[in-house]
Amino acid sequence: MERSYQYDIVVVGGGTAGVAAAVGAAKAGAKTLLVERNAYLGGEAANSGVNCFCGFYTCGSDPVRVVKGIGQLVLDEMRALGPTIAEEISASGNRDIIFQPEYLKCALDNLLEKEHVDYFLHTVLIGAETVENEIRTIQCADDEGLFTVSAKAFVDATGDANLSRLAGAKLIWGNDGGHPQAATLTFRLSGVAADVDLSPAAVERAVVRAKAEGIRKRIYPQNGKLRDRPCPSSEHHSGRTFGRRDDTDGEGDEKAGARIYSGIANLYAGNGAQ
Ligand SMILES: Cc1cc2nc3c(=O)[nH]c(=O)nc-3n(C[C@H](O)[C@H](O)[C@H](O)COP(=O)(O)OP(=O)(O)OC[C@H]3O[C@@H](n4cnc5c(N)ncnc54)[C@H](O)[C@@H]3O)c2cc1C
Repeated sequence: MERSYQYDIVVVGGGTAGVAAAVGAAKAGAKTLLVERNAYLGGEAANSGVNCFCGFYTCGSDPVRVVKGIGQLVLDEMRALGPTIAEEISASGNRDIIFQPEYLKCALDNLLEKEHVDYFLHTVLIGAETVENEIRTIQCADDEGLFTVSAKAFVDATGDANLSRLAGAKLIWGNDGGHPQAATLTFRLSGVAADVDLSPAAVERAVVRAKAEGIRKRIYPQNGKLRDRPCPSSEHHSGRTFGRRDDTDGEGDEKAGARIYSGIANLYAGNGAQ
C-alpha cells in the first residue's frame, strides 16, 4: 500500500531558502515537512563550492547588516560547531560571510531538529496533484518506493521551480531574450603557494602575460561537452593539467599563477563567454 503523510506546510527543496521557509513555518506553529533529494541540506551552498553568503550586508564601502532572522540562527548554529565562519571584504568590495559547507550541512540539520521540522532526505519530488489550480498533494520517491504528502500549503524552494512545473504552472526562462544570468564557475585550487597574490589585478596581469607568452590551453564545446582541440599528445594540454606538479615545479609563483589563470581564462574563452 502506498504510504501517505499529512502536514500543514510542505517545503520542497532543502537549500538555504527551503530551510528558512521551513523554520519560519514551524516557528509560526505549522506542522512542517521539508523534502530534499540530496543526502544533506544546503542546496547550492553545499553542492557547488559556494562558501560565502553575500546577502547579509548591503553592497559598497559602508556595508549595513540587513539580514538577521533565520539567517542569524544559521550563523549561530555554525558558530556553535566551532570557528567555522568569518567575515571578509571580498575582492568585489562586498562584506561576505565565509563558511565551510560541511559545517553548514550539520548546522542546518541541527536547526531543523531544534525547530521540530520533519525532513526527508534522499527523497525526490516527482509529481503534484492540483484541484482548481491549487496544489493538494505531492508525490515523492525514496529508497522504499513512492508516497504522497497532502498539506494546506506548499512551498517551492527547489531553486528551479520544479514543483511549479510539475503542478502545471507556466514558467519563464531568463530575460525577455531568453538569456539567464551569467553563471559563476566555482572551483578549488591546490598546489599553489598560500602567499600567491590572487587579487583580480594580479590575475588579470597573469592572464595577459601568459597569453603574450603564447601559453594556450583552450577547451572547445563539442557535442554538448567541453573538449580539447585535437592536438599531438606531446603538446596536449587540458584543464585537468593545471595542477600537475611538473607544470609548476621550478617556476616562480607568478609564472605558475599565470599558467593556472591562462587555463581558466581559456576555459571561459573556449566556452564562448569571453
Ligand atoms: C556556482 C554558484 C556560485 C554562487 N556564488 C554565490 C556566492 O558566492 N554567494 C552567495 O551568497 N550566493 C552564491 N550563489 C547563489 C546561491 O548559491 C543561491 O542563491 C542559493 O543557493 C539559492 O538557494 P535556494 O535554496 O533557493 O536554492 P538551491 O540552493 O538551489 O536549493 C534547492 C534545493 O532543492 C532541491 N531540489 C530540487 N529539485 C528537487 C526535487 N524534485 N525533489 C527534491 N529536492 C529538490 C535541490 O537538491 C536543492 O538542495 C552561487 C550559486 C552558484 C550556482
